[in-house]
Amino acid sequence: MDVRLEGGFAALADGGESLAADGGTLEELLTSVAERAPRLGRRLFTAQGLLAGEVDVRVNGVDARLLGGLRAVLRPEDRVSIGPYPLKAMTPREAERYARQMILAEIGAAGQARLAAARVAVIGAGGLGAPAATYLAAAGVGHIVIIDGDRVERSNLHRQPVHHDADVGRPKAESAADTLRALNPDVAVTAVSEFLTAGNALRILGDCDVVVNGSDNFPTRYLVNDACVLLGRPLVDASILRFEGRLAVYLPRMGCYRCLFPEPPPPGSVPSCAEAGVIGALGGQMGSLQALETVKLITGAGESLGGHMLVYDALTGEQHRFALTADPHCAVCGDPPRQTSLVDYEAFCGVLAPHAAQEGLGIAVPDALALRSDANVQWLDVRSAGAIDRPTIPGAMRVPLEELGQGEILDRGRPVVVFCEIGRRSMLAAERLGRDGIAARSLEGGIVAWTAAGLELTP
Ligand SMILES: [Zn+2]
Repeated sequence: MDVRLEGGFAALADGGESLAADGGTLEELLTSVAERAPRLGRRLFTAQGLLAGEVDVRVNGVDARLLGGLRAVLRPEDRVSIGPYPLKAMTPREAERYARQMILAEIGAAGQARLAAARVAVIGAGGLGAPAATYLAAAGVGHIVIIDGDRVERSNLHRQPVHHDADVGRPKAESAADTLRALNPDVAVTAVSEFLTAGNALRILGDCDVVVNGSDNFPTRYLVNDACVLLGRPLVDASILRFEGRLAVYLPRMGCYRCLFPEPPPPGSVPSCAEAGVIGALGGQMGSLQALETVKLITGAGESLGGHMLVYDALTGEQHRFALTADPHCAVCGDPPRQTSLVDYEAFCGVLAPHAAQEGLGIAVPDALALRSDANVQWLDVRSAGAIDRPTIPGAMRVPLEELGQGEILDRGRPVVVFCEIGRRSMLAAERLGRDGIAARSLEGGIVAWTAAGLELTP
């Protein structure tokens, strides 16, 4: 392929505006360039053989560092250009703010300039997004887009210190954006107070260089993955539950989340943090690692975690790194892909949209309470089998969601109020019972809302 030489690099290669070179990876390509133009070659690599910080390499207009740096996979039709990275003057305030990270040889002035020019999307201003966005803003990422359709709840605060007690009830994206702007007025922050959907994901993520996923549900996780594959963006993904954290970086053309998990788990089979619990500092740990991997991608420092998953066990302090294998038959990143647009991820994951409650399946605690005197109403606890000994609403039957429909204990002719810990599993149950012809409604907020209202449970 022809490599375009820009900004004075042509003079180092005897004047030609481009140079013919070959390689299936960027490392092979630049090695081939260095062999053909040794004076230029000395500018491309450091003494350690790494891509030099002052060199700007673009593949189809995208900074090659975001594609994995020297590991970036190239195709014959790609347009590759190389030139010196254009440095911009820094204000004294910026120079002072970033002094401690700019003295790192791996970052330097060029790395700091790359951070300032970068636009990063952070999905979710929650347990992961809060620390990730905080460190990205502090590090000087020039533009952060924070996306969250929820409002701040007091139960968020133990693990989402980007929000403060006075923010309870505010849109999370706005609350987070205010904190980031106060922390670093030199970065731009855009708050998007809506949930990411198949309808808006490509528009919102389309002009971002890196996507950091801090969402906590499977439909969004698959949506974000597919959008990143379609857009050719690197995805820095993480999840936390109880005491375990996972981190993975998916680089364009090097596999994706669906190579590992082609199908979502059965609905309700993986508990949420609200159901199973989570330790706040674990979000801090994994979200900080997301920020770190993002900074590495943008600046090209070190070697990206790309192609690996890191699993951290907070109870033992141990962590393990596993290599991920790209699946050539993957539905979205395989060659050729079977899926070339976004789909309905709630349907794909077999779950309801977050606000199905508005469609009449939900019942608020006061309305449910009014039904307590109606002996005709059946009460059904669908929490997992592990919760079978926990206190429940007096008179309720217990059938874990997974076992619903196998052996009927409900009277099909009578209405049902179905509940779980927070109202998510019960919403699935109500929908399933409804399809079965049973009049079922899901207790909004579940046992948590019931006890918060001061109502009693059986011991
Ligand atoms: Zn894939």
